[in-house]
Amino acid sequence: MEIRFRIAGIPVKILPAFWLVSLLLGWGPGGFKSVVVWIPCVFVGVLCHELGHALVARRFGGKPEITLYAMGGLTHTHERAALGRWRSIAVSLAGAGAGFLLGALTLAVAAAVSGGDGTAIERLQRAGALTLSPGAQASPLALAAGYLIWINLGWGAVNLIPVLPFDGGNVVRELLGGGEQGWLRAAWVSVIAGPIVAVAAFVSGWTWAGLLFGLAAMQTGRELMAQWRRLADKRDGLYERMDGAAKALHAGELERAAAEAEAILRVARGAGVKQGAAHIVAFARVQAGRPDLGLAALEALPAGEADDMLLGVCLLEMGRADEAAGHFEVAVVHGEERSRELLEEALEQAGDSDRTREIRARMRAREEAGEGTPRGE
Ligand SMILES: [Zn+2]
Repeated sequence: MEIRFRIAGIPVKILPAFWLVSLLLGWGPGGFKSVVVWIPCVFVGVLCHELGHALVARRFGGKPEITLYAMGGLTHTHERAALGRWRSIAVSLAGAGAGFLLGALTLAVAAAVSGGDGTAIERLQRAGALTLSPGAQASPLALAAGYLIWINLGWGAVNLIPVLPFDGGNVVRELLGGGEQGWLRAAWVSVIAGPIVAVAAFVSGWTWAGLLFGLAAMQTGRELMAQWRRLADKRDGLYERMDGAAKALHAGELERAAAEAEAILRVARGAGVKQGAAHIVAFARVQAGRPDLGLAALEALPAGEADDMLLGVCLLEMGRADEAAGHFEVAVVHGEERSRELLEEALEQAGDSDRTREIRARMRAREEAGEGTPRGE
């Protein structure tokens, strides 16, 4: 269902969701005829925008790749940090720039070929080429001209609004210093400007843009909070204390490692430090013969963040072999070293139960499919 091709030597991949969302967006009072014209126009507009990014990125030595997906287009290229501020800004602006060129070109051609009296604008208006919802009498060509003008000029301008992760937000990040600091400042601009733009878009009936900016502001707000917690942990010296706890663990000073990691857990704000400290606690406590304390630290983490091998070891040491087997099975699927042996051990200890029978059946099925071989053994 994926379409792949190259344009000007740049690989382009189109995911099926791109067509689906284009179809949904184009479905309106214009009916079938307008959708048939709309979809190729969106395709040309989005591809032109991404080609703008890609061609400039390639000029600066990058190896860009374009993907068209549900939310529009995306150009993967080299790391921003390697690009430098002004080149990074040039890449960001090139998307809208390419769209403006195509939009202006369409405007000029449409004005030249539309007949009748009056100024170019009046003639375009009569042809229905200056509105997104022309009457049923508009010709397919006038429809196409109208869509191309709106998509390239309108969306190009909206995309320059300073909200992350849109191009305008990226420009602001570079202008405000780039890097981590620049991102933080641009994120603040985003969480203030994003909701304002979203409300304005909803009020003007541009629902799609409203949704997009609303979601972008929410996502950036979430990342901003996570980043703020990380920086607070750094400022409080928790990263150095984590290093100390890890060194104690490696040196075999289990009690000291566990106590320090538990103390860190009580004050940590960021997800990364919490996760690291909980694993040090679990590792140290299980070796010191207190798997219950290790399990408690791991279970306090959000779902899916605790290491399945370590969870399994704690449970196995506590005599809960049946539950341990479930975690070792996940580790086997992820190809963790020694997971296969531990799974066998847990299954043997657990004996016969509904769960162990299910696990054994899945193991056999995976073996037959040739999967689940532990890595590095
Ligand atoms: Zn862009």
